[in-house]
Amino acid sequence: MKKIQTTLFLLFIVSMAFAQPVKEHGLLKVSGTQLVNEKGQPVVLRGMSFGWHNWWPRFYNAGTVSWLKKDWGCNVVRAAMGVEPDGGYIKAPDWSKERIRAVIDAAIGEGIYVIVDWHSHNIRQEEAKQFFTEIATTYGKQSNIIYEIFNEPERQSWAEVKAYSIELIKTIRAIDPDNIILVGSPHWDQDIHLAADDPIQGYNNLMYTLHFYAATHKQSLRDRGDYALKKQLPLFISESAGMEATGNGPLNEAEWNAWINWAEKNKISWITWSVSDKDETCSVLLPTASSTGNWADKDLKPSGLKARELIRKYNGWKP
Ligand code: MG
Repeated sequence: MKKIQTTLFLLFIVSMAFAQPVKEHGLLKVSGTQLVNEKGQPVVLRGMSFGWHNWWPRFYNAGTVSWLKKDWGCNVVRAAMGVEPDGGYIKAPDWSKERIRAVIDAAIGEGIYVIVDWHSHNIRQEEAKQFFTEIATTYGKQSNIIYEIFNEPERQSWAEVKAYSIELIKTIRAIDPDNIILVGSPHWDQDIHLAADDPIQGYNNLMYTLHFYAATHKQSLRDRGDYALKKQLPLFISESAGMEATGNGPLNEAEWNAWINWAEKNKISWITWSVSDKDETCSVLLPTASSTGNWADKDLKPSGLKARELIRKYNGWKP
């Protein structure tokens, strides 16, 4: 009887741990190139990115976050703070921060990790410093938080991105000494070899973002990833999907699978783009999808069905 009770108790603990990834893993760190938990064991985060908050604010709420955890098996979500477009941070900072904080607070409530993504293609250093000062001050003690300081540099050199990143890292580290910070690289996070050849020195718990769109980016970009790993650069796929880099065009499922296999083989975390309902391949939802989760399969586009299948599979989701 005692044995049965012990077994049931252990099963209960395991199911609780699955239900609460942050309770299980605690504050994440980087060890070598690997994301690890507070006990030093490898961790792989898999989940969904919200679309630009300025265009898809209807999904920035606790209901959607809860559904992404419960039905999709996400152990992480990414809140994408649109910076420059209308309705973005520059023109509407208070409204924008409310949207992002709704997702952060919900992720904390659900016990999953949350990436706070400065979704910019240009350097907006002063605005970014102000934003991350507030985020680090409010949330820096929460194990859930991961900072992503520059979504995708477009035309900036690595020297420019590096100088900007060091400024932002200094700003965050003055407030929060430990949570993971994700650093971008030139050309939409493709030029990770440049970061690998000249990484940022003197700070802990940094990872570098590699983005792929599987119908455009193939083996040559995975080779770049291998090169970066060989040079001891920690990688994090904070955005990815199965179609062309435009976010549109047909899915290439074979290449998408090849990417996920590569990420899993290397224990690299990956996030799929995105929770939105635009008429394009990468928006995982149709306009029929409710703003607060409870989506039926008929509300999901093929990219959504496939993303959910991959996240469920690798996160060990059970209904
Ligand atoms: Mg902290």
